[in-house]
Amino acid sequence: MSKLDEIQKICLNRGIVFPTAEIYPTISGFWDYGPIGTLLKRKFIEYWRKTFIKSLDNVFEIDGSTILSEKVLKASGHVDSFVDPITQCDKCKSLFRADHIIEEKTGNFVEGKSNEELTKIIRDAKLVCPNCKGKLSDVRVFHLMLKTEISSVGGQVGYLRPESAQNVFTSFQRVFRSTRAKLPMGVAQVGHAYRNEISPRNFLIRVREFNQMEVEMFFDPNNDKCPLFDQVKDKEIMLFTREDQQKKGKSIKIKVGDALKKKILPNEWIGFFLAKEFEFYKSLGIPESHLRFRHMLPEETPHYSGGNFDLEIDFEDIGWKETVGNAYRTDYDLIKHSKHANTDLSVALDNGTKVIPHVVEPSFGVERTITGVLLHCFVEDKERGWNWFKFPANISPYIASVFPLVNKDEIPEKSREIFEILKKDFDVLYDESGSIGKRYARADEIGIVVNITCDYDTLKDDTVTIRDRNTTKQIRVKIKDLKNILSELLEGKKLGTF
Ligand code: AMP
Repeated sequence: MSKLDEIQKICLNRGIVFPTAEIYPTISGFWDYGPIGTLLKRKFIEYWRKTFIKSLDNVFEIDGSTILSEKVLKASGHVDSFVDPITQCDKCKSLFRADHIIEEKTGNFVEGKSNEELTKIIRDAKLVCPNCKGKLSDVRVFHLMLKTEISSVGGQVGYLRPESAQNVFTSFQRVFRSTRAKLPMGVAQVGHAYRNEISPRNFLIRVREFNQMEVEMFFDPNNDKCPLFDQVKDKEIMLFTREDQQKKGKSIKIKVGDALKKKILPNEWIGFFLAKEFEFYKSLGIPESHLRFRHMLPEETPHYSGGNFDLEIDFEDIGWKETVGNAYRTDYDLIKHSKHANTDLSVALDNGTKVIPHVVEPSFGVERTITGVLLHCFVEDKERGWNWFKFPANISPYIASVFPLVNKDEIPEKSREIFEILKKDFDVLYDESGSIGKRYARADEIGIVVNITCDYDTLKDDTVTIRDRNTTKQIRVKIKDLKNILSELLEGKKLGTF
C-alpha cells in the first residue's frame, strides 16, 4: 500500500476526511471534512491568513459569491477556453485526460500541445485504453466548468466559479475606493472553487470541489517595486528553471534576489511571494527537499502572462504536483472586464494619473496543501508501535488531550474540571476510555501535541503530568500554568524549554 493510500485509510477511520454522501453510490471528486479534518483545515487557513493577509499592510480580504454569471466568465475567457483535452475508449467508453495518459505512458510532458498533436502522439506511441486495451478516440475538448441555470423563469446561465480570482477583479474598484487604498494593494480571498475534472483521483489532490486561498496584488504598471523585497532578497528557494527542465536536470538553490538579477523572475513581487511561500511550506513540516518552484515552460504559459511559477510538492509515490500557482497576470483581467462590462476599471495614482494596475497572483490550493502536510508529517514509528502525525502545533487539530489516570477516586472529576477550564480558550479533547497507553496512541495518531494526565498527586498538590507527542518525554507542571504552556506551544516553543 502506498503512503498516500495509508493516509487516506487513516483519514477514513478517524473521520478526518471522507467521500461526500458515501452511503449512496457516490459521484467521485467530492469530500467532506469530519471533526478532526475541519479543525485542521480551519487552523491551516487561519495560519495562511496570518501570514499572507494580516502580516502585510494594504491587503484586504473579501468573501465573494461562488456562482458567477456567464458574462463574467465569458469576459475572463473561461467560457471559451477553460477546457481539458480528452480521449475516449471506443470499447468501454471510459474518458481520460489525453495529456495525463501520454505523460504516464511515455514520460514526456505535453501540456499546451494542440488536440491534433496529442492525437498524433497517441497514435505514434500506440497508446490504448488502460482499462480494457480498447482503441482511444481522437483528442477533443471537454469543458471544465459546472453549469447552472439561475432565476425562476430560467434562461440565465451561471457557473460555479472555477477559480476564486474573478470575484476579486470584478470587485477591485469598489474595494480600492471603499478602503481608500493606494497601490500597491492586495485583495485576498479564501473560498470554494469547482472544476468538472474528468478523472478525480489521488485522494484530495484532484477533486471537483476544492478551496483556494488567493492574493491578487495590484500595483502601478510603471512601478513594480515591492517595498518588502529587501526583507526577502537573501532568502533561498529551490527553483526548477526552464533550462533544467529541458535538460531533464534538477532544481537549484538560489537567492530570490539573484533569480531576479538573472531575469528569471519577472519582478520583485513574484520574488517576494516565492520567498514567503517557501518559508511557509517548510514551517508546515514539508522538507525543503520536497519543495520546488517550477518555472512554467513557454508552451504552458498563458499568452498574457509575464511568467508563471508553480510551487510543487513531491508527493512521493505520485510525484511532484502543483500546489500553488504563482502568476504575473499583468493587466489582462482588468482590461477584459473593462471592455466586456463597458466600465472604466482604471484607478488614480496620487499624481492624478489613471492606470490599469498590473497583478501578481499567488493561488494556493487548500486540499493539495493539506494532503502534503498529512503525507510529510506522517511518522511511521515501529518503536512506539503506532504511527502518528507530527503536525506543527499551530495547525494541529487539538493542542492537548486531558486524561484521568484511573476512572475512580475523584480523578475523573478533577480531570473534567481542568478540561472545562482549558476548553474555553483551546481546542482540547477529553478521553477516559481504555488504558493510558491506548489513549496516548489514539492522541498521537491524530497529532495531538501534548497529553495532560491527572493522577493521585493532582488531588494533593494541583499538578499534572504533561507528555510531549514528539519526544514522549513527560514533565510535571502546575495546573495554573497550563494555559500559559499551551499558548507558548502554539507560538512554536518546545515543551520544557520555556
Ligand atoms: P490553477 O488556477 O489551476 O493554477 O489552480 C490553483 C491551485 O488550485 C492549484 O495550485 C491547486 O493547488 C488548486 N487546484 C486546482 N485544481 C484542483 C483540483 N482539481 N483539485 C484540488 N486542487 C486543485
